[in-house]
Amino acid sequence: MAGYRRQLYRDDAVVLRVQKLGESDRIITLLTRRHGRLRAVARGVRRTTSKFGARLEPFGHVDLQLAGDPKGNHGSSLHTISQAEGIDLYGKRFLGDYPRYTAASAIAETAERLTPIEREPSLRLFQLTLGALRSLATGEHATTLVLDAYLLRGMAFAGWAPALTACAVCGTPGRHRAFSVPAGGAVCPDCRPPGAAHPAPATIALMSALTTGDWVYADATETGVRRECSGLVAAHLQWHLERALRSLPLVDRGAPASGAVPPPGGAGPGVVPPRTGAGPAAAGVNREITE
Ligand SMILES: [Zn+2]
Repeated sequence: MAGYRRQLYRDDAVVLRVQKLGESDRIITLLTRRHGRLRAVARGVRRTTSKFGARLEPFGHVDLQLAGDPKGNHGSSLHTISQAEGIDLYGKRFLGDYPRYTAASAIAETAERLTPIEREPSLRLFQLTLGALRSLATGEHATTLVLDAYLLRGMAFAGWAPALTACAVCGTPGRHRAFSVPAGGAVCPDCRPPGAAHPAPATIALMSALTTGDWVYADATETGVRRECSGLVAAHLQWHLERALRSLPLVDRGAPASGAVPPPGGAGPGVVPPRTGAGPAAAGVNREITE
């Protein structure tokens, strides 16, 4: 520890996850505006008298004073939260609202998975995540649209957004009808691999609208199109993540639609070839949450 002094620094952050630590402390996983994702200890917050603790619940936007080395040059030593002020505690608005709570959980889990390296600044993902939680809280758009827009833009942040306006394989421009997750999105007739899905053209159009932020178009779409869009987005996301999201299969997307729509979080026939014995949905629902 020679030469290492803990510094105090401020940042604002979204609370992604909260874990117990010992009798009265918590470890808070944060996506900060300037310091990327990091984990920090909040001391004493599980005591019933702690106002501090109520501000550090999942999905809140908080202003923090932290102690630690902001550049993270000293191993994995945890930072400590010394002050917390709530800016917008969105989590309170999702209590008792299962669809919005599970969508917020899927957003937070995705944010964590898209930032595998701690303390690597990712301002764009921070802004996307905060914007999605704010949109969920205000209820300005349907919950599933907000979630799918976030997942599509998150995939673009990660560099593997599905191709929608050109063939994923040869790059020929146009709205192609076939869609293949392993090929990388929409594919032209020449490049279409066996087993490619054939979603409704309106579904590809909805995916494009959510990617570019065309909410006028997205808000006017029908339930069946939204469900097909959710299935393709979930399949594309889970193909690229090494492990399935735990929370995505729990998202409430309303009554089942007929026929061709893959289950949310699951790999539908023709969309993704099976890679493992258990599907993502099974892995997500049944795995015990140990952290
Ligand atoms: Zn092609």
